This record gives sequence, structure tokens and C-alpha cells, in this order.
Amino acid sequence: MAVGAGRVMAAAAPSAEVAGPRGGAASLLRAAEARAALLEAAGPLSEVRFDEPLARHTTLRVGGPADAWVAPGDAAAVARVFARCAEAGWPCRPIGGGSNLLVRGGGVRGVVVSSDRLRGLSFSPDGAATRVRVGAGVTTGKLLSEAVRRGLGGVEFLAGVPGSVGGGLCMNAGTYLGEFTQVVTAVRSVDPAGQLVERDHDACGFRYRGSALPPAEMIVEGELVLGARDPAAIAADVRGLRDRRREREPHGVHNAGSFFKNPPGDYAGRLIEQCGLKGTRRGDAEISPVHANWIVNTGAARAEDLLELAALARAAVEEKFGVTLELEVKVVGEP
Ligand SMILES: Cc1cc2nc3c(=O)[nH]c(=O)nc-3n(C[C@H](O)[C@H](O)[C@H](O)COP(=O)(O)OP(=O)(O)OC[C@H]3O[C@@H](n4cnc5c(N)ncnc54)[C@H](O)[C@@H]3O)c2cc1C
Repeated sequence: MAVGAGRVMAAAAPSAEVAGPRGGAASLLRAAEARAALLEAAGPLSEVRFDEPLARHTTLRVGGPADAWVAPGDAAAVARVFARCAEAGWPCRPIGGGSNLLVRGGGVRGVVVSSDRLRGLSFSPDGAATRVRVGAGVTTGKLLSEAVRRGLGGVEFLAGVPGSVGGGLCMNAGTYLGEFTQVVTAVRSVDPAGQLVERDHDACGFRYRGSALPPAEMIVEGELVLGARDPAAIAADVRGLRDRRREREPHGVHNAGSFFKNPPGDYAGRLIEQCGLKGTRRGDAEISPVHANWIVNTGAARAEDLLELAALARAAVEEKFGVTLELEVKVVGEP
């Protein structure tokens, strides 16, 4: 149903009453006036859905609904949505490809803002190098394939890493071939008040599987510098990484990749495996028999099952090795 600005996927409620569609926590955007205000802020190029199940937007395929899910059509729409959320007091959370997210069963109150429609991608020569402007919603796969097509090296590390560039920048995604920090020169984001903020590389504070980019901001664009490289060497690296992943990682199950960060000098998977936990299940959640740091959804797992296995693995590793594992996946929402 098309309603003025943005596409509405669920009818706006007629009154300001607050019973949640999930029978539990109330939606903050139940009232028709609130929904209309969000639609107006989003504008005609954006998509807006209310009571949107987030399981549809995460690779683990678990999690309850967001009060509202918005995919702004451009950075200006992101700014308007953030400003409206700040004004109304609705919590506002960015989401990319959902490949590193575990949403709890009670869902997320407020507005989830997706980078899905921020798909700009341009390459321009800059001396011997090439400057790339890439929208936060461009998939890492698309960025890699376009770089490979142009004979540009620097993002081979993205082979087999799912998700969006925005999520990748936030997480400083990477593999043994490299990570985002090595190619990023600037990041543009929208702050909670709706203001555009630009940071150079050093101000992003990239670290192992993380950054100092404020979680309340939404990245809208990144700038990278890539260099020309022998296409055969690029292809060999990409193929090598894909082959290695095929051998070592679980397939055919919903997952979010590694659940825990590797502790300094060791591997979370090795430690969990040494605790004898491979194959341990809670409902349809499982510590993968293929790779112990992948806690997967084999069918209809609940977020709580996955979290119970994570707690079990963490406690066992702490007791046996005295090492405290830190979650790599981001857990959001209400139980
Ligand atoms: C099969 C599989 C393999 C994987 N392999 C790897 C790997 O080899 N290396 C690796 O590093 N990771 C890996 N991951 C994890 C995941 O792919 C990365 O962390 C990825 O960069 C997350 O991007 P996303 O767009 O899916 O982010 P999401 O999962 O949507 O979000 C992750 C975090 O980033 C934030 N975020 C997302 N977009 C934005 C934005 N535009 N602005 C601000 N914040 C934002 C979210 O709020 C959240 O906190 C793997 C995951 C899977 C499922």
C-alpha cells in the first residue's frame, strides 16, 4: 500500500493505544501520527515497514520484529529519519546485511535504519591509485567483484565475507589477507541529531573486528584507495581464500560466521573444541561440528538457544583455560 512518502508494508494503527503486536513489549510507533511522521521524514525514495520481523534481515534468521524498519533512499533521508527519531525520542539503530547480528526474540523497540538503498559506487583515478566512493549498502561481494574487474588490488580479503560495506567498516571486517583499515581513507556518517560527520582514517579508530565509530551513528559512505595489481595475483588470492573457507566452514545452516573474537595469540574455535563442545545442541541451535566458533541455526532455533550455547562455551573456556571470550556478533533487542 503506497502512502505518500515511502512504502508502508503494514497499515498504520488507528489510535495511540500501545498493546504490542507481539503481545509483550509495546511498539513505540503504534500510533498513526507517529507512523505518518516517520513516513514523512523518510521521503519518497525510502521504504518503510512497521512491525517488521528482523529474522528476515539477519543471516542467522532469528529475532523478533522492529517497531519500524526504514531503508532511506539517500544520505539526506538518513539525516531526516535520525533527526525525527531524536525529536520523538525513538531509539534508532543502523543495520546492514545482518550477517553479524543476533536479534533477540522480543525484537527491537524504535526504528531500525537499513543501509540497503545506499548503493552508490564510483571509481576515479588519483595519481597512480584509484579512489573509490562506496555507499554503505553496497555489498562487500559487489565491491570485491568491481575491484577485480578493474584490476584493482586491496580488497581481496573480502572473498567470502558477506554483508554490507557499512557493516564491514563498523566491524573492520577482515580475514588473514587483510582488513578494511588497510584501504579506508575516510568514512561519512550521520549522527543521532541528523548531522553529517566526516572522519579521516585515524579518527575511525579501527581495531581487530571493531572501530571507534560511534554505534549511534549511521555510516552512509566510505572512501577507499586501491592500487593496480596483476589480475592473476588478485584471482589467485581470492580463489585461495574461497577454497580455504569452503574446507573449514559449515555450509547449509543459518549462521553469523564467527561467534567470538579470537583471543590474543589463540583461536576461539580451538579453545571451544578443546572443551569438547562441538556438536552440542539446544533445540535447533548447535555449536557446529565443523567449526566450534560457529554457533549455527540448523532450522528453527531461537535467539535464546543460540545465546545459551554461547554462554556455555564461554563458561567452559573460562574454566578450562582462564580465557574470557568476547562476542564478535552484536546482540540486540529484547528477550
Ligand atoms: C558466512 C559468514 C562468514 C563471515 N566471515 C567473516 C570474516 O571472514 N571476517 C569478518 O570480519 N567477518 C565475517 N563475518 C561477519 C560479518 O560478515 C561481518 O562482520 C560484516 O562486516 C557485517 O556486515 P553487515 O552489513 O552484515 O553488518 P550487520 O550484521 O548488519 O551489523 C553489524 C554491526 O554493524 C553495525 N552497522 C551495520 N551497518 C552500519 C552502518 N551503515 N552504519 C553504522 N553501523 C552499521 C550494526 O549496527 C551492528 O552493530 C561472516 C559472517 C557470515 C554469515
